[in-house]
This record gives sequence, structure tokens and C-alpha cells, in this order.
Amino acid sequence: MINRRSWLRGLALALGATASKGTAHALASAEEPNPQPSPSTQHLALADYEPKSMLQVHESRVERARFPAVDVHTHISVSAKAENGIELASARTYLGTSTELLAVMDRKNIRAMVNLTGGFDEGLVEAIGKYDKAFPGRFYTFAEPSYSRFLEPNYPKLQADAIEQAHRAGARGLKILKTLGLYLRENITSGKLVKIDDARFDPMWDACGQLNMPVAIHVSDPIAFFTPTGRFNERYEELNNHPDWFLVLHVGNFSENLANVSENLDHFPNMSVDIAARIGELGRQPRTSRKLFDRYQDRILFGTDATPHGDEFPQQVFNDKLYEIYYRFLETDDEYFDYAPAKVPPQGRWRIYGIDLPESILHKVYNQNAARLLQIKV
Ligand SMILES: [Zn+2]
Repeated sequence: MINRRSWLRGLALALGATASKGTAHALASAEEPNPQPSPSTQHLALADYEPKSMLQVHESRVERARFPAVDVHTHISVSAKAENGIELASARTYLGTSTELLAVMDRKNIRAMVNLTGGFDEGLVEAIGKYDKAFPGRFYTFAEPSYSRFLEPNYPKLQADAIEQAHRAGARGLKILKTLGLYLRENITSGKLVKIDDARFDPMWDACGQLNMPVAIHVSDPIAFFTPTGRFNERYEELNNHPDWFLVLHVGNFSENLANVSENLDHFPNMSVDIAARIGELGRQPRTSRKLFDRYQDRILFGTDATPHGDEFPQQVFNDKLYEIYYRFLETDDEYFDYAPAKVPPQGRWRIYGIDLPESILHKVYNQNAARLLQIKV
């Protein structure tokens, strides 16, 4: 019978040209008792660790989405002034020009981008003019609440009226950043945190419902950002009392627990989710994810969180590579590949697996669900 040492040696030799001397040595000595780590191993800083997968698996390159995609979650503009996480200025800072955005969109088969952070008042009107109106059908802009007026006594009505104005100006929905829930306080930047189901926002939700404007809401943060006390576990309860549609971003920010996301989707028929910046989570549980897509195929939307020049967050930087990774995740059964265009996986040191969705589901996820929710033609 062949012993383990010679089997390992044989394996190392069989690797031939692809195996370096170091690999062969590591394999051959793997069964020696308690090998002492070499000094270089002991002093390797985690930040310098860039393991290269030795797996020899099929690599697909998906350059264009199978169906024209609507990216429902992007950030083309941001508030020009923010304090303690609260956007205070109507004026916008633009992160990408329409020319550079359209070039990538055309190459990657992206029919439209939804700019969630369009802001409010004149800034919103300007953003809509620069993108939606200048390139009909290619860009859609969402409005945001103006928290700077939160202390005004008639804020609930003011904010509801602002939604109507935003709608008239061409806004396609309302975006709620995690400002509400994590940053907005009774005195705007100080005092007690304002809960997301605070009654002062009721007229705003009602206005959205009446105008059929979907609400894209980012609540909380990934569970690992918190101590394990489950601070925001019941975050959807009150929202269910309102008739408008909720697009709960980042797979409800609980892609670590898809059973919980399913429960919420079952419980709240007006809730949809996008997959933005969470394929790292979805792709490391490909079988559970695939079941989620099968079951809720009418309520999952394509989105990336793409931010032009957002290099500090590689999992959402707007470029060709980012889209190719999303398409590969959705369309192929490739195994163990990077979920972000980065040297080191930015959201955790693992790789992901494709979920190989059938055409019918791809079509819904890429554009049909978005078209229905946003009431747009694709
Ligand atoms: Zn986002």
C-alpha cells in the first residue's frame, strides 16, 4: 500500500510545471508532526496576506448582462455638506459625469441606473436635470428627506409636501439612508436617536404611498458591525402599516441570515430587496441564496451600490469589473471567485460561488422587477 508521504510526493510531482518548489516542499512535509512555523509565517501581517487560490476551476467572463440591466442602487451624487452622518445641504456633489457613466453602461448592457441619493429641494431638481432629463430612460433619481428642517414645528407636513414637490420635479422614489436609525437625533446631530418608525415621518410615508413612490430604505448595518445584541431586530414592524412599496436595500442588511430575510418577505408583502454590496454574503451560501432567488424571484432587484470613483470601497466601485463579477455570480456556476475587484476581499476573507439562475429569473432580477416597482419601461 502506498504510504502518505510518497502519495504526497507523487502529487507534488504531478503538479509539474504549475507547482513551485515551495509548494512541493509544503506538501511533502505536511504530515510531519507539529511542524514549527517559519519566522516569516509568524511575522506576516494580516494586511499583507494575499492568498492565491490553488483551485483549478472553470473561469467564466460575463462581459454583458443577459438582459438589459437596471441597477437600482447607485450613488451618482451626494450631499455637498454633511455633519455627524446627517446631510445638511441641498447642493450636490457629482461623483461621475454622464459621459463616463454611459460608456460603462453601454459596454455592460446596463439600460438604466437609479441614483438613490438625489437629495432634496434645488439640489434634487439639478440632479434630475443633469441626468434623468438629459438622458431619458438611462437615469432615474430618488429624493431624500431634508433632515435639516427636522426641528421646525410643522416638519411632518413640510416633509410630506416636499415629497409631492419632488414627485412633480421627476423623482421616482424616496431613499432613506441609514441616517434614520443610526445618526438622526432629536436635536438633529445631538440628543436621543430618532427611531425609524417615529410618527413625525408618517405623513412622508403616506405621501409616498399616495404617489406610488417606492421607498428604498437602508436600515442598520451588517450584523457584524454591532455587538451581538440584535439592536434593530424588529425594524420593519411599523412600516408594514403603510401601503407603499419598500425596497429594503442590501438584502435587508441581513444577508447573513436569509431565513430571517425570508420571514420578513413572507410577513411583509410590500417589501422587496436588492442585492447591492452583498454578493459576498450571498455567494458564500450559494444553495441557500439560490432558493431565495427561486422563491422570491419577483421581489429581488439587481443593484450594486455602484459609486463612481468610490475606490475606498472596492465592493461598490463603479467600473466594468464590478459588473462582470455580479453577472458571473448571477449567471454562472463558477466556483470560488472574488466578489469584489480588489486584491484582498474587502468584506471578509472568503470567495464566492455562482448561482446559475435560469433565464426567466435573470430577466426578472435584471429588469422586470425594477420596471414594475419604478413604473418605468425597459
Ligand atoms: Zn448605497
